[in-house]
Amino acid sequence: MADEADVIVVGAGLAGLVAATEIAEAGKRVLVLDQEGEQSLGGQAFWSLGGLFLVDSPEQRRLNIRDSFDLAWQDWQGTAGFDRDEDHWPKRWAEAYVAFAASEKRDWLCAMGHRIFPVVGWAERGGYDALGHGNSVPRFHVTWGTGPGIVEVFARRAREAEKRGRLSFRFRHRVDALVTVNGAVTGVSGAILEPTSIVRGQSSPRTVIGDFTLGAQAVIVASGGIGGNHDLVRQNWPARLGRAPRRMVAGVPAHVDGRMIAISETAGARLINRDRMWHYVEGLENWDPIWPNHGIRILPGPSSMWFDARGRRLPAPLYPGYDTLGQLAHIMASGYDYSWFILTQSIIKKEFALSGSEQNPDLTGKSWRQVLRRATNKAAPGPVEAFKRQGRDFIVRDTLEDLVAGMNALVGDGLLDAGEIRRQIEARDRELDNPFTKDSQVMGIHNARNYLGDKLIRTAKPHRILDPAHGPLIAVRLNILTRKTLGGLETDLDARVFGTNGQPIEGLYAAGEVSGFGGGGMHGYRALEGTFLGGCLFSGRNAGRAAARAVG
Ligand SMILES: Cc1cc2nc3c(=O)[nH]c(=O)nc-3n(C[C@H](O)[C@H](O)[C@H](O)COP(=O)(O)OP(=O)(O)OC[C@H]3O[C@@H](n4cnc5c(N)ncnc54)[C@H](O)[C@@H]3O)c2cc1C
Repeated sequence: MADEADVIVVGAGLAGLVAATEIAEAGKRVLVLDQEGEQSLGGQAFWSLGGLFLVDSPEQRRLNIRDSFDLAWQDWQGTAGFDRDEDHWPKRWAEAYVAFAASEKRDWLCAMGHRIFPVVGWAERGGYDALGHGNSVPRFHVTWGTGPGIVEVFARRAREAEKRGRLSFRFRHRVDALVTVNGAVTGVSGAILEPTSIVRGQSSPRTVIGDFTLGAQAVIVASGGIGGNHDLVRQNWPARLGRAPRRMVAGVPAHVDGRMIAISETAGARLINRDRMWHYVEGLENWDPIWPNHGIRILPGPSSMWFDARGRRLPAPLYPGYDTLGQLAHIMASGYDYSWFILTQSIIKKEFALSGSEQNPDLTGKSWRQVLRRATNKAAPGPVEAFKRQGRDFIVRDTLEDLVAGMNALVGDGLLDAGEIRRQIEARDRELDNPFTKDSQVMGIHNARNYLGDKLIRTAKPHRILDPAHGPLIAVRLNILTRKTLGGLETDLDARVFGTNGQPIEGLYAAGEVSGFGGGGMHGYRALEGTFLGGCLFSGRNAGRAAARAVG
């Protein structure tokens, strides 16, 4: 088997593109294989909001946010909760990644033409104490141009390398096995799938028209996670999050199928932390789906009231945008797979953003005019209004009694009692007469508005939910939405994959979501957000550079 390249990269998502461009720039030849067609270049990152975790950035400083490596590392450890022997490499990756986010990351991207929207978002606010889960300060930096904006940087570099003859793509090449000789990985084999003209993101046909075997001195697996395969998600579902949901929506395209994980295990690779996953609790059924069972996540501001399926308000600090996995465990313990937001038109207008490049045409299209309209319009952004009108999960009514009747009708089980919901909302509304309060969600709203970015575009002025001047009332059924895989193939800081014998497998590297974004799970149990794309950048870069050095 003559080698067609020095290194083969499996997967043309963000991690694969970063790794491949690093290899080409180190002067080596690299072949990038992907089971999807050319139209899907960039994988999940294309669909993303392009949110990036940065520490002590100029954007933060301009908004009077004081951040530091020490504060970010404190937050990361409180969030990750590393507690296993197998967290050795994940923890080392995490520390290296936080240092990257606090130093080189922004300048490295900027030098390649990447730009950032100036208002920094505050994701995963925690609500516990200083050593607990969550971001002490806003750190979510949205790419100007969202997901396509970050993919474009590396796609352009890849196309330039292609012209120089250093990099070539083989699309519709599905890897089914890693070729090993005496325990070392020496190539890949698999099936050539029929050409396809489907639109990006749709499921592509799996009809096989040929096969291939390709050799190289090193193989980098960058094949993504398992979020598109709900059977695998349920199989790996941890007991600490309750039973696996019966009904979930898919926050990722079908190609996020997790197959390469088992294929790598067959070649001797060690998978760790398979029970750690990052799924959201604010999923909507997409009224205009691209992929099967397509779900969209609401990125909520802090003001909506949150109720379980029986109409009981979620306890402190399970407020919108505070603690994703805390909410998931609580909702699953309720015995139902869904929960409810109740809010007002004033809240939806200012606080609802939808995660996804196609749901944010202003930021994706880099239009300042449209962005300003988002801040000044009476209505919510166009895509949010479209969901409000056409989404199955939305109910809009003028009175609370009508709203609750609509909620009961949607689910069809009469679980909600309008009187009981009214009692809880009125109690919360009474807490608004003073600028101080005992209700910790209301405290959180006041706290958020002390941050200029939230006050400008993310947190509605505190008001009574039942004040008709802020109506109509809106209820949203929230579904569980699958997204990220936090565990993965165990790797050292050079992204070399460990075998089950505890030694690195010669010739095998992994990057991106398949490696738990570095080490086999650099997030531990939970994430601070914006750390997934960042994890692909960092692990792709490390893998590419290390493989280029190793192939001599
Ligand atoms: C809607 C959405 C919003 C998001 N928003 C954010 C955000 O704002 N910030 C953030 O940090 N993260 C975000 N994420 C997560 C982030 O986009 C992903 O975690 C990241 O892009 C994963 O990149 P990857 O390269 O590891 O894998 P992928 O993007 O999944 O790419 C893997 C590629 O490998 C190919 N492949 C798989 N198996 C094989 C095989 N056997 N043979 C050949 N090819 C194969 C696949 O076809 C795919 O092209 C979001 C994700 C989505 C879907």
